[in-house]
Amino acid sequence: MRKHAVVIGCSLAGLFAARILSDHFEQVTIVERDPVSDHPESRRGQSHTRHLHGLLAQGFRMIKELFPALENDLLKGGATISDMGEAIRWYHFDGYKRQFTSGLPAVSVSRIFLEWKILNYVSRLPNVTIEPACVVRGLAMSKDQMQVRGVYVVSGNDGASETTIAADLVVDVSGRGSKSGQWLEGLGFKRPQEDEITVGIGYATRLYHRRPNDLLGAKLVMISPTPPTQKHMTFLFPIENDRWIVSAGGCLGDHPPTDESGYLEFIRHLPAPDIYDVISHAEPLSDIYTYKFPSSLRRRYEKLVRFPEGYLVLGDAIASFNPIYGQGMTSAAMQVKVLDGLLRQQSTLAGLWRQFFQRIGKVVDIPWQIAACEDFRYPETVGDKPIMTDLTNAYLAKVHRATQHDTVVYSQFLKVMNLMAPPTSLLHPKIVCRVLLGS
Ligand SMILES: Cc1cc2nc3c(=O)[nH]c(=O)nc-3n(C[C@H](O)[C@H](O)[C@H](O)COP(=O)(O)OP(=O)(O)OC[C@H]3O[C@@H](n4cnc5c(N)ncnc54)[C@H](O)[C@@H]3O)c2cc1C
Repeated sequence: MRKHAVVIGCSLAGLFAARILSDHFEQVTIVERDPVSDHPESRRGQSHTRHLHGLLAQGFRMIKELFPALENDLLKGGATISDMGEAIRWYHFDGYKRQFTSGLPAVSVSRIFLEWKILNYVSRLPNVTIEPACVVRGLAMSKDQMQVRGVYVVSGNDGASETTIAADLVVDVSGRGSKSGQWLEGLGFKRPQEDEITVGIGYATRLYHRRPNDLLGAKLVMISPTPPTQKHMTFLFPIENDRWIVSAGGCLGDHPPTDESGYLEFIRHLPAPDIYDVISHAEPLSDIYTYKFPSSLRRRYEKLVRFPEGYLVLGDAIASFNPIYGQGMTSAAMQVKVLDGLLRQQSTLAGLWRQFFQRIGKVVDIPWQIAACEDFRYPETVGDKPIMTDLTNAYLAKVHRATQHDTVVYSQFLKVMNLMAPPTSLLHPKIVCRVLLGS
């Protein structure tokens, strides 16, 4: 029964999925549209990987469970892993958050290098095969059209070679552009409802040479906007090979310029000088790459009542979050953990989709709410605004200000943002007292 699983997409969530499926299936095949290189590089199908990616503490913990050698290998490769509270100089709500020892890891590494390391581990698994330059075009179904039996793929440079790969389970991890909705509709099923919150984020990212004394008293800098008046942000993280990665961003269409002098001016006019002070003297090592992220997008598979057996959807294909909160990789790791748990519990694959999507709905709820709440501080944000958002945001504004002087509040805030504690923990009487009395 559990002979062969097919994973559509060989980006980070696809690799996590393949790693788990390799424990439960005799054979796993990852089908990837792009050619897959044997060195770290961003591919056409995931150009967002050139931009700064922060890995939340919860994500790091879970990814290390999947790949125990990761921490050492990242350090050997030149990543920086330090205490988050000590390492981050974070300007937000008109002040710097108080630096302190938090016990949470801040992992600073390029997304490209992180994925390349993980690709290496997965491609060494004896029962995993990667099929690069191979596009999934549709789902092969059982005669009664109720069960996915595999995928139709096209491979080769001219796209001439069309085949079917048979599978007991197919997992769509093809990212935000996933065609699952379309494929399902073509097969007589309903598309999932899509929830969308328009955030209009534009990123402009550049790499710089990093010198040892560039930044004193911190390892990375985040300058976040204070809504609703400010829309600009910039993050500076150290990455391997003595480089800085700098991602400047703007929301609701107010994007950073992409010419050299405009880019520097944008960063010079941020409310804190720290990033400009570093990069105005640093040697640029790349062009300025851009990325536009129109909206957070969530597909509500958990609401479907009819769905084919033998098919799941995971990663950005389920939920693609406003990237400024750094939740995508962690959400993918959490989803994969759910899949692992279910495959351990269930002896057959029958009904797996229902259990999986129900639980994934809950996994996605929290990061989705955290991001949505902050995004609705801007009156121009379009989407379904959760009830009580304004009230929550009024309290959270006080939390943000308290993090500038109170390390107990900041510690709890970091745990929530890193998905290590539920948002309701910020309503614990001990925290509420400190937030309200302190302000
Ligand atoms: C600008 C930006 C910044 C971000 N910053 C952060 C951050 O700071 N922290 C964080 O945790 N997350 C961040 N994210 C999210 C993070 O990048 C994703 O969550 C993560 O890459 C996992 O995505 P994925 O593997 O589900 O999909 P993707 O990375 O989109 O990969 C999908 C893969 O599927 C392949 N594919 C697509 N269609 C087919 C097909 N038909 N057949 C075969 N293959 C196919 C594609 O080529 C691609 O390789 C950011 C996202 C963006 C856009």
